[in-house]
Amino acid sequence: MARYHGPVCRLCRRAGEKLFLKGERCFTPKCALERRNYPPGQAGPGRRRKLSERGIQLREKQKVRHAYGVLERQFRRYFAEASRRPGMTGLRLLEQLELRLDNVVYRLGLADSRKQARQLVLHGHFEVNGRKTDIPSMVLKPGMVVAVRANRRNREFFKLQAEKLAEKDVPAWLALDPATLSGRVLSVPSRAEMPQNLSEQAVVEYYSR
Ligand code: SF4
Repeated sequence: MARYHGPVCRLCRRAGEKLFLKGERCFTPKCALERRNYPPGQAGPGRRRKLSERGIQLREKQKVRHAYGVLERQFRRYFAEASRRPGMTGLRLLEQLELRLDNVVYRLGLADSRKQARQLVLHGHFEVNGRKTDIPSMVLKPGMVVAVRANRRNREFFKLQAEKLAEKDVPAWLALDPATLSGRVLSVPSRAEMPQNLSEQAVVEYYSR
């Protein structure tokens, strides 16, 4: 499966804000943005280049794409699907991204980042509605149950994750069962329950030109 293999901290530095792509490291002083809060390729801190309207739209589109770890081609497919659905295209786009299996695993606190969640899914550690699945891009629906497979729960990684679950905030559109390392999708997330630093309107404007 194609995915971005370059240095992820560059993506945050390009966006000019934390996209939380590296799990726990993002919350420590080791975060690259804490140490070098200027765009990659720039020798040192200085004024960021003023962007045109089109440049701002591109940056916002890239921010959404990188935050969810989706490549351009797949992102365009999500956008095309969102355009076909009734309602606001930007909102429909974010809903699809939030309901991806790797994002749900991350939101449930069963992985420290979406990237890690994707790896865990790819390695066959999860099941959806009782069936093993290794497709991180699977878009879930309300009522579906995601769980760490029973024969994987005793692995050291999941034991450590289970200990950390109490510290994690699970959004209201998901219900976590820490005992079975599983979670249910209760509803489609509302805009208020999605990241507030993302501008879906800019994405719509970018693709509408
Ligand atoms: Fe972004 Fe995390 Fe790297 Fe900081 S540590 S720059 S938040 S990916």
